[in-house]
Amino acid sequence: MVHFLDLKAATDELAEPLLTAAQRVMSSGWYIGGEELEAFEREWAAYCGAAHCVGVGNGLDALVLSLRALDIGPGDEVIVPSNTYIATWLAVSATGAKPVPVEPDPATHLIDLDQIEVAITPRTKALMPVHLYGQPVNMDALMELAKIQDLKVIEDAAQAHGAMWSNRRIGAHGDLVCWSFYPGKNLGALGDGGAVTTDDADLADRIRCLGNYGSAQKYIHDERGTNSRLDPLQAAFLRVKLAYLEVWTARRQARAAQYLEALADLPLTLPRVAAGASPVWHLFVIRSQDRAQLQKHLTKAGIGTMIHYPRAPHMQKAYSDFGLNPSDLPIARQLAEEVLSLPMSPHLSESDCARVISAVQDSLTR
Ligand SMILES: *Cc1c(COP(=O)(O)O)cnc(C)c1O
Repeated sequence: MVHFLDLKAATDELAEPLLTAAQRVMSSGWYIGGEELEAFEREWAAYCGAAHCVGVGNGLDALVLSLRALDIGPGDEVIVPSNTYIATWLAVSATGAKPVPVEPDPATHLIDLDQIEVAITPRTKALMPVHLYGQPVNMDALMELAKIQDLKVIEDAAQAHGAMWSNRRIGAHGDLVCWSFYPGKNLGALGDGGAVTTDDADLADRIRCLGNYGSAQKYIHDERGTNSRLDPLQAAFLRVKLAYLEVWTARRQARAAQYLEALADLPLTLPRVAAGASPVWHLFVIRSQDRAQLQKHLTKAGIGTMIHYPRAPHMQKAYSDFGLNPSDLPIARQLAEEVLSLPMSPHLSESDCARVISAVQDSLTR
């Protein structure tokens, strides 16, 4: 059996330092905020090459609070990819603004920069690119476009911990960069967690305030905030795991190289890495016109696969009021029909990866 993702293996590898970290928090007497959280915020900002980091409750909140910090709300539009996890769209909707979808480049699955311009209207306030599957968007070109169009950039980096565009880490480009530490992400907590990184001290303060009931000073509330904070316990776990992120990313990169080489001549579409991109392979996503058959074969061979994502946001009931037909965003729809995620994690061994490869070859060559 080859698991799609073995989260227990990740926790087991670090069991001792994780327990030590938990004990440190337990005996500190601080269970919200405090030194452990501040230390993680400093370390994550430094890793990303950003001046500030604000821990929040989860990745969705990171996006919503970032939008609110830029005063984006009813009547405003935000450009989002047509093919993303629905959280990107939901964050925009939560503020009362409208997500405006732009189709991806079918080769990279990333938002097509050439199509952003035609989607911009006088109501557009921000661009929200997603570094999907851990593949970085061309941030040089995107920031240039945002500058010309006078738009803010909020990055959904929930899948891109450690990814680089032209040798600069994701986290060092846009106005606000949003992170999720959901357990299955490349840097994952043992529960929910999220953060925003930024170089702008005022925006960082505003997000911290918004996530703390709109209060910068205890019992003084300047605006109607919410409660969205990163637990010190999760921060302590994340500090342990951050020390392993580079090593674990290298293991993912080795497995991706193994897949790319061995699957090259099969009737499949493999992930394409743009020049300038250093992906971190949150997911290894292939495309097949015969996906159902392939997935069935792999399941029978004991190999776990998943589909990210089987239904594009514009085809979800949640967005039926937008009145979009499946064919209005044909690339998003087609990707949803063809994508298949193969096992990928720092705990996928070379031999298990080879088993996945043989099973894929077996399925496609008979
Ligand atoms: C996981 C994810 C989110 C949401 O993160 P949560 O921590 O689960 O709220 C947002 N966007 C993308 C692209 C994600 O993969």
